[in-house]
Amino acid sequence: MPQKTKNTPMMEQYLSIKAQYQDAFLFYRLGDFYELFYEDAEKAAQILELTLTSRNRNADDPIPMCGVPHHAAQGYIDTLIEKGYKVAICEQVEDPKTTKGMVKREVVQLVTPGTVMDSKGLSAKENNFLTAVVSSNEGFGFAYVDLSTGELKTAILADEEAVLNEASALQTKEIVLGSELSDSLEKQLRERLGLVFSIQETAEENAEFSFLTSELEHPLEKEVTGKLLTYLSVTQKRGLAHIQKALEYQPDHFLKMDFYSKFNLELSQSIRTGKKHGTLLWLLDETKTAMGGRLLKQWLDRPLIQQKQIISRQEMVASLLSSYFERIDIQGALTKVYDLERLAGRVAFGNVNGRDLIQLKTSLEQVPMIRELILGINQGQWNDLLLDMEPMEELVQLINQAIQEEAPLQITEGNVIKDGFNEQLDTYREAMKNGKQWLAELEARERAETGIKNLKVGFNRVFGYYIEITKSNLANLEEGKYDRKQTLANAERFITPELKELETLILEAEEKSVDLEYQLFLGVREQVKQSIARLQKLAKSLSAVDVLQSFATISERYQYVRPEMKSNGQNLQIIEGRHPVVEKVLGHQEYIPNSVHMNPEEMIQLITGPNMSGKSTYMRQLALTVVMAQMGCFVPAESAELPIFDRIFTRIGASDDLIAGQSTFMVEMMEANQALRHATPNSLILFDELGRGTATYDGMALAQAIIEYIHKDVRAKTLFSTHYHELTVLDEALSHLKNVHVGAVEKDGEVVFLHKMMDGPADKSYGIHVAKIAGLPTKLLERAGTILKALEAGSHTVERVEKVEEDTQQLSLFTEISTEEIGVVDTLKKLNLLEMTPMDALNTLYDLQKRI
Ligand code: ADP
Repeated sequence: MPQKTKNTPMMEQYLSIKAQYQDAFLFYRLGDFYELFYEDAEKAAQILELTLTSRNRNADDPIPMCGVPHHAAQGYIDTLIEKGYKVAICEQVEDPKTTKGMVKREVVQLVTPGTVMDSKGLSAKENNFLTAVVSSNEGFGFAYVDLSTGELKTAILADEEAVLNEASALQTKEIVLGSELSDSLEKQLRERLGLVFSIQETAEENAEFSFLTSELEHPLEKEVTGKLLTYLSVTQKRGLAHIQKALEYQPDHFLKMDFYSKFNLELSQSIRTGKKHGTLLWLLDETKTAMGGRLLKQWLDRPLIQQKQIISRQEMVASLLSSYFERIDIQGALTKVYDLERLAGRVAFGNVNGRDLIQLKTSLEQVPMIRELILGINQGQWNDLLLDMEPMEELVQLINQAIQEEAPLQITEGNVIKDGFNEQLDTYREAMKNGKQWLAELEARERAETGIKNLKVGFNRVFGYYIEITKSNLANLEEGKYDRKQTLANAERFITPELKELETLILEAEEKSVDLEYQLFLGVREQVKQSIARLQKLAKSLSAVDVLQSFATISERYQYVRPEMKSNGQNLQIIEGRHPVVEKVLGHQEYIPNSVHMNPEEMIQLITGPNMSGKSTYMRQLALTVVMAQMGCFVPAESAELPIFDRIFTRIGASDDLIAGQSTFMVEMMEANQALRHATPNSLILFDELGRGTATYDGMALAQAIIEYIHKDVRAKTLFSTHYHELTVLDEALSHLKNVHVGAVEKDGEVVFLHKMMDGPADKSYGIHVAKIAGLPTKLLERAGTILKALEAGSHTVERVEKVEEDTQQLSLFTEISTEEIGVVDTLKKLNLLEMTPMDALNTLYDLQKRI
């Protein structure tokens, strides 16, 4: 630990600030650098590959230190944030030139994984949600916000499972805790989801926050949202004008899928790579804007369960599908729409520049055309979206008049505001322009007067304006008029009173114009800020148009059809359905379509078939079709009629939870438990090879019991694939269970999977068949045949067969025993040997022997 007594005032200041930000790297501004000290320095040097030095190198206890130049700091901050750290940015808040003694410093922002605004790491098509949770005996208050877009939502969640599901669905990286959570929940949030924790114990009471939470009724929602907002305000320390009024949502109002199911179905994250490529999101994403990309992901995370809403989306997709040219034009216009949501966020945050405003204008300029095109195809289905699609012409006009098209990135160096926008600015600019003219004239005059042809007027930052004359020409200068400023190798630079006067005029105009431009820019920004709420509405409606055109585009490209959706429907009828992602990868020709029929009579399909034959593809195909349909998209099939499902449960594949350190089988059982406890007759359950993770008997017994339970108690539509051929007899006892299998044929000595689902159980001798083709010894194959027969006769495993064989032999010994012999044994048993003399015994033995 640093010894207080020895510290310089600056280190004292550092330590007192650091004490308030112990869980963050403190970037302490020192001139043109941000410096880090002590442990921060040691850790950062390692993570960021910086050189570790020390502050008072020669002292007994040098202070470890490292630093980054302030202009390059963003990249380093991004790296730390990406790795899940927090960074407190501490600036000099006084001008060192005008301050005596220590410059005052303050932390101006705490950047955390959930509050990134500016980072290049902020992916355009992904939201960055910061969440908060408080627990109470009524359940959990849960809230989330995306600081970059201003979206703010809150819900009451019933249990820990729901908190985990929400947090993982949102892919939040940081969670603000408002009260203590149970150890197990904390552990899961930290370890399973890898979240960074932050604490916010109290909620600020202020007008802005009361306004934002004014529509919430539940006190727990108000509380958690209040804490979330307070956390934002204490960490960001600046305007949050773009944060939208908190909206309550209910996870129950959407198709529910838990963390594992989403993961297993590879909705937005590939199991193998963790990336988007190869997922349903990847397939569906033909959005043209970043906002559309984010909304698509939200729709994918929360498919609908209300028929009316689903049909409304379908109708919009249908209208786009039948209007090819309008759709192409809409797409064209959308490609010119920038990220309005994040632009609005940056306006509020105060970090927009001229270019951002030009992007805003370009985006707004597309709106009239998009509106026009949609009005052209609208038959009522677009009315709601059209309401929010305001062209906001006054903003376009303002930016058009005020901001230069080629505005620079900096807003403090001029050239942002257009000519003609402000009279005063025009006067300064006139002076600057004339100044150039004056300088040119002065140069010409000086050349003529001195006869020096290469005399020139120039400017540099240190010496200002000068007249430069090469050494060979110095003799030609009039005495007394030229004042020497600077000597170069072969020239001298001078100033004259006339040039000095011009310089003052020009520099003043320049300085004032830069100042004025900055003020004018802030004024424009303020005006845009007044329109943030409307901009956000517009952004939402354009995002929806973008997602819907994306649906139409892929539906056309891959020949999807509009599914018929029935709220209380019991029938599921997919004709020639396909797995959208596998089809995209394999190509339409290569994919073998499969139909799926389910209804209350055929509620459970028991799928048998060898490995790699397409069982799990078939199951996933159904789930993805349901998800797509409930998002409002068309589906890969010839035709489809679907009930609206309330939940999808899956146990598919070996996506194993090594992260949480649980065994495969345990995970399997936990997922099965979720399904068995929470599924309703309107749910869809997919169990792939359930029970595989334990001993054969054990697994088979569980599998059978689970199927029976679903059949009798749960009554959800279920696909159950299994290796246990023995289970196929269940169709005799369970009337709503149907056996299906994947077909295979032998062709040129090889087994070819048809990937086609067929009625009935798979061929039992299939494996032996394959073994035969592979050339295993005939004797062995015959033996396998015998064992199979024994198994078919009712036994369950090989061990059992052998045991049966032994039992049979023993039994055959006894079956030869006659009733007489049994009588002998009986008599023998009843003899009271202790009371018999040796003679009696001998006589009895003699009699007995005679009887057999
Ligand atoms: P299983 O679950 O039976 O082990 P999978 O469903 O994993 O088999 O399928 C194995 C492979 O077969 C898949 O990777 C895919 O390439 C191919 N496949 C599966 N179903 C089809 C299909 N309907 N059409 C074409 N290829 C398919």
